[in-house]
Formats: sequence, structure tokens, C-alpha cells
Amino acid sequence: MRAAIAAAELGDDVFGDDPSVNRLQQRAAERFGFEAALLFPSGTQSNLAALMSHCQRGEEVIVGQEAHTYRYEAGGGAVLGSIQPQPLANRPDGSLDLAEVDAAIKPDDPHFARTRLLALENTIGGRVLGRVYLQAALELAARRGLATHLDGARVFNAAMKLGMDVKDLCRGFDSVSVCLPKGLGAPAGTVLVGGGEFIARARRARKILGGAMRQAGVIAAAGLYAIENHVERLPEDHANAERLAKGLAALGLEVEPPQTNMVYVKIPKDACPPLAEHLKINGVLALLGTRTRLCTHLDVDAAGIDRALGAFAAFLSQRPRAAA
Ligand SMILES: *Cc1c(COP(=O)(O)O)cnc(C)c1O
Repeated sequence: MRAAIAAAELGDDVFGDDPSVNRLQQRAAERFGFEAALLFPSGTQSNLAALMSHCQRGEEVIVGQEAHTYRYEAGGGAVLGSIQPQPLANRPDGSLDLAEVDAAIKPDDPHFARTRLLALENTIGGRVLGRVYLQAALELAARRGLATHLDGARVFNAAMKLGMDVKDLCRGFDSVSVCLPKGLGAPAGTVLVGGGEFIARARRARKILGGAMRQAGVIAAAGLYAIENHVERLPEDHANAERLAKGLAALGLEVEPPQTNMVYVKIPKDACPPLAEHLKINGVLALLGTRTRLCTHLDVDAAGIDRALGAFAAFLSQRPRAAA
């Protein structure tokens, strides 16, 4: 990837003439089966530009309480797009109850914001939404006149887990946002795919948001390398997550069975600060909390998983009741 970055042919993407960016965008559009694609510096900006391209001021997006674009993006849609979120509870499997979505769509009445968009996320917290569910959600949206956006930051994990082509998994959405770092290992960059007119609007939104970059080919070359070389290996991350989950369970910890590359393990509140310290000293980075999240990725192999398990085991042996 470093070599691909060094060798990248560059231009000025603000003028649309960076060949590496154009190659990545063309490749992403093809791979996802959409007309066009656009490179963004981050997934947050890509999601926000998508919201702003689907919704006018005063319009509304139906979105999960746990969705990244509602919960973890600083309310950007409201702050910068004047778009009202209508959050709904995610079910334990990460999906939204479609009867609740249907009921949340507001009638066309001047009292109400106009419900314009349904935004889903796949994977969501490492959980996979299958095609049957997505199809039902897309049919509801079509019947009720809503546009659809998929936050597919980690959609390649979902596709590999389901053994599906991303094109088939994402078919029917009006837009999909796909992150190139995370599991794919690029240093930065997210591609938004959609129809030609939609992407033209997103390009304007990206400019408003300050996301049009000049010699962005250095980022695009890494992204292209990631898409070409780091997708087929994602099942290794899923297998390592399984290995980690089984090992933690064997230590007596309460672990949620992983679907992709995220392992959630219950840690008593008082054990979190000393465990965080202990793991860090032992080279293991985790999002510590009562529901601690551990992610596997291309820089962690099975031996690394075993080292992490060793660090947990050492901690628990000093503190036997941490597992209680
Ligand atoms: C990482 C991520 C994003 C975007 O995050 P950035 O850090 O802004 O690139 C969006 N949605 C999901 C589900 C993510 O995991």
C-alpha cells in the first residue's frame, strides 16, 4: 500500500483531474453497481454530504438510535444540514422494526417535518443485516416515497460474512457510504456511491463541507489498493474475532458471539480502569467499558489474538472476581 501511495499518479481533484481519484471512483462505482462515486476525507463527511444531498432544510431522516450517523457524528445533519433526525430504537440484531419505521413517517401536513430519508447501517456494531431484511426495508421506503441511504462503512465485512457480492447486498439503495480505513486498512478516505445526479449534489455538499482535496490521489491509491487486496481476506478477521470470543469465554467472561470483526465482552465497572491500563501495557488497545469492544483487523493475526488472551488471563488471575 505504501508503494502504491508513492507511485500514485496525481492531479488536482478539485478540478476532477486526479487520475488516481478518478480510477478509485470508477472502480468503486463498478464494484457497487452504481453510476458514480465520490471520494471523501472521512466517513462522517460522506454520511453528512449524503444526508444533505437527499434532504432539504426542514426535512427528516429516520435513523437508528445506535446508528453512527445519528449518534457518533456530532449531530452534523442537524447542525449543518438543518435536517431533523427521527431516531428509532435498534433491535438487538441491529435492525429497525419496519412497522415502527412505517408508523414514524409523518403525514404531509404543515405541522410536521417532511420525512424524506431512511438511513440504515451495515454492519451495525459488528452485526450483519441480511438481504431479506434490507429488501423489506427498501420496499417500505419505495412504497412510502422515501429515499434510502446505507452507511456501509463496514459493508464489505457484511458481504463477506454473507458470502454475497456487495453489489447484490447494496442493490436498491439510493446511496452507500463505504470506509476505506477500518477493516480495509487504508490511512483515510471514504467513497460515497450513488446515481449521477445524486453524486453531483454530493460534490457540491462536499465543497461546502471543505472536503474537496487537491492531490488526493495519494489517498485514492491507498483506497484502491485496499479494495483490490484487502476485501477477500476479511474472513481472517472474522475467524480471529471468533478465536478471541471463545478464548475470553473460556476465561469465564460474558461474551456476545461475534458476527464479524467485533467482540463485545462484559467487564465490571470497577475493573475497567485497571484492565485498560493492564491491556495497554501489554500492547492491546480496546474501547473499555462495561460492554468493552475489541476489534480485529488486518494488523492482528492469530498469534496476536493469543497474546491478547494471555493479557486478559494474567489480569484475571490477579483479580479472580473481575469475571463475576
Ligand atoms: C467509522 C464509521 C463511520 C465514519 O467514521 P470516520 O471516522 O468519520 O471515517 C461511519 N459509520 C460507521 C458505521 C463507522 O464505523
